Parts: sequence; structure tokens; C-alpha cells
Amino acid sequence: MKVVVLGAGESGVGAAILGLQKGYNVFVSDKGAITKKHKQVLLNNDIPFEENTHTTSIIFNADVVVKSPGIPDTVPMILELKEKGIKVISEIEFAAQYTDATIVGITGSNGKTTTTMLTHHILKNEGVNVGVAGNIGDSFALQVAQKKIDTYVLELSSFQLDGIENFVPHIVIITNITPDHLDRYDNKFENYIESKFRIIMNQTKEDYLIYDADDIEIKKWLQNNKTEAQLLPFSVEKKLEKGAYLQDKNIIIKTTNTDEFKMGITSLALQGKHNVKNSMAAAMTAQLLKVRKQTIRESLEDFEGAEHRLEHVLKINGVQYINDSKATNINATFYALDSMKNPTVWIVGGVDKGNDYFELMPLVREKVKAIICLGTDNQKIRQTFDSVIDLIVETSGAEEAVKVAYKIADKGDVVLLSPACASFDLFENYEDRGRQFKQAIRQL
Ligand code: ADP
Repeated sequence: MKVVVLGAGESGVGAAILGLQKGYNVFVSDKGAITKKHKQVLLNNDIPFEENTHTTSIIFNADVVVKSPGIPDTVPMILELKEKGIKVISEIEFAAQYTDATIVGITGSNGKTTTTMLTHHILKNEGVNVGVAGNIGDSFALQVAQKKIDTYVLELSSFQLDGIENFVPHIVIITNITPDHLDRYDNKFENYIESKFRIIMNQTKEDYLIYDADDIEIKKWLQNNKTEAQLLPFSVEKKLEKGAYLQDKNIIIKTTNTDEFKMGITSLALQGKHNVKNSMAAAMTAQLLKVRKQTIRESLEDFEGAEHRLEHVLKINGVQYINDSKATNINATFYALDSMKNPTVWIVGGVDKGNDYFELMPLVREKVKAIICLGTDNQKIRQTFDSVIDLIVETSGAEEAVKVAYKIADKGDVVLLSPACASFDLFENYEDRGRQFKQAIRQL
């Protein structure tokens, strides 16, 4: 079988190694430059590759093409492959064929990484032979090639789900659905929603779907479509017959009619309403996988959290600095502001993907004492909040933003970087933004 891998990133190189291990004729093609690290892996494994070009005579001769999630379905090369009837799949679909591990698949617009890491943490503490992949760490394909794992927790983006056919997670979590990446979906929110729900399309009645019952889009989809999976909703707003809900500051979980798990939310390691939801989803998954209640409880208490997600950096002169650089859309920032308990100096801005800042207005009125803009174009933010916030300062770098915040914040305040925007105007990526922010704080 001839396998062509398009895109030599983490997932592409992993797929190539797995293909090689399975005895296929593998060729890797990247239209851009391949990083030194990935090139070395291909060379070490004697995998033929090309960069800065696509040789169509080889690519159109493939039996199957494994496409990197970064390549849109609409580029001419992909359209032509499909026209020729050549199968184009994602690395997730490719790798899943070669493992019989139990799969937990986690998708959603926000909270994927947090919920994936939390679920992995609980299973690991229980002693399960568990692997984590998707957008985290080594690719799924590489791990399937190199390890024997019983349970995988996979963080899955809509782009990875676009390229699945037979992939079927035993347990699915859909954290929430809000508009994101619409540029890749013809600017149609419904296309993006459909893409997310592909994650359950092969589930049977033996499988489970865990989802946010407070999310309008998810609820709407489930009303209008059928699924065979057993439904386990979670809610922070209402009591549920089955699933997870809040009662007097306790999480109550009922995955079966007879079993009940109860835990106070004040002892959760991750605070904030959104993290109560993430904790509910992870705990339900663990219950389905027969993890002991005590392990679930301890794990939810001692989880350390992921970098750049409401990460507590330092407290200086009684001011808490929080790095939420991963908040690249309004919904994520909404939950960040929602979980602030003290007057907040809010650092916001960057490249916005069509943000409607008015959604944040009630929270900003209630909690924000000053706004520090961190972007090249801050006009929209200024316009929206000029009338309610007296102090709005524009800055053009992390160090400047932190210095200004330091001057403005008083004892008991919080300085929160939660940009609601992508970072590409001033930074390499959100990690770079978060790291520069943290470094500037440490230098105060
Ligand atoms: P993803 O991997 O889906 O981007 P992350 O766990 O990295 O999600 O979190 C991204 C941002 O969204 C962070 O700012 C985080 O605080 C926020 N967030 C986390 N969980 C949720 C949730 N359930 N709902 C809304 N926002 C969330």
C-alpha cells in the first residue's frame, strides 16, 4: 500500500513512522519548510520526503493520503485528490486502525486541553496504563507505533475530526460549542458544529456521550439529530436525573441509577464555573472506566493545571498575577472574568477573529477596574468599554503591559492576562505571549 503523508509536523511524522512500521510504502510531502527536528526523524527512519513542494505524480498515485489538520479541505490539492477518489484521512483515523485501546475522545471549543489533562491525571493516579495524545505531547500515531497502551485520552480539534471515517471513541466528551475557526468552515457556524459532532458518528449503544447540557448549540443538535450513544449530560444550572449537576456547592454524579458520587467544589484544584464543568466531565469519564471514587476525589484536588490557562503566576505586594494567554476567544475570557473574585486589571487584545466584546460587558462592569490593551489595533476594545471603564491604556508588549499593570493595581487586586484574541500581531503564539508575560512579572 502506498501512503502519502501531507504535512510533516508532529502528527505527519508520527503517521509516517507508523506507516513504515506497518510495512507500507510511505512518502512525506510538505509544501513549506520542514523543521530540523522533524527532518532528522525522517532521515533517521529512512523515510523519503520532500519540502517546499508537492510532487503530484507521487501524491496522486497514493492509495491513501494522511493529511495534517493544518491543511484546509478546500486547497486545490485536496479537492483534486478527492475528485480522483483517493482516500484522504487524518492521522487520528489512520492510527486508530492499529490499536484496540479504549479511546476517550475530547472535543469542544474551549476546555479540551484542560479536560484531557485532567482525565489523564485521574486515570494515571488509578494506575491505568493510559496515554494522552491529540494536540498534546507525542502524536497518537507515534505512540501507537511505539507503545502498548490500554486507554488513550485524545484531545481532538474539529480539523482532526473532519478526516475521520471509522474512528469511534468509547467515551466522548463535548465540552461546549461556540463560534471558532469559522474561516475554515465557509463562515458557517453550522458547518463547524457538524464537524464537532462527527466525533460521535460511529458510536453505538455500548458507547457514551458526555456533554454540557447548559450549551444551547449542543442541546439543539441533539434535539434535531439521532445518536445511539448513552447520554451523560453535565450542568451547573439545573438538577439532572442522570449525569452530573451542582447541589449546594457539591458536584453530584450519577452515571448509573444506583451509584452516586459527591464532592464539594471548594476543594477542586481548578476553580471557576468552567472548571467545575471540566471536572464533572473528567470525573464521569473516570467513573465509567471504573476508577475508584477516592482516586477521582484526590486527583481533582491535586491536579496542577495546564500552563497558560488561568495559571497563577506570582503574588507581588498583595496583587495576584494570572496568565490566561490561552484565552483566544470571547467565551474563554468570559469564564476567566467570571471566576475573578477581586477587582481586576484586565490585559486584553491581539488579533480578534470577529469578537463581540459586548458579551463581556456585565462582567467587565462588575469586576474590571482598568483595561490594558495589548495589541496593534485596540480600537474595538476602546470603543466598547470607553463609557464604562475610566482607565484604558494601550501597550505594545508584554513587559510594558506588566509594568503598567503594576502601577495601577492595588493590594488585593488581580492582574489578569486573558486576551480573547490570537497573539500573532505581537507574539509568535499564545505560549510565547504567556511566557513573556510571566517573565516580565518575575522581573518586577
Ligand atoms: P482548548 O484546548 O479547547 O483550547 P483549554 O483547556 O486550553 O481549551 O482552555 C482554553 C481557554 O478556555 C482557557 O483560557 C481556559 O481558561 C478556558 N476554558 C477552559 N475550560 C473551559 C470551558 N469548559 N468553557 C469555557 N472556557 C474554558
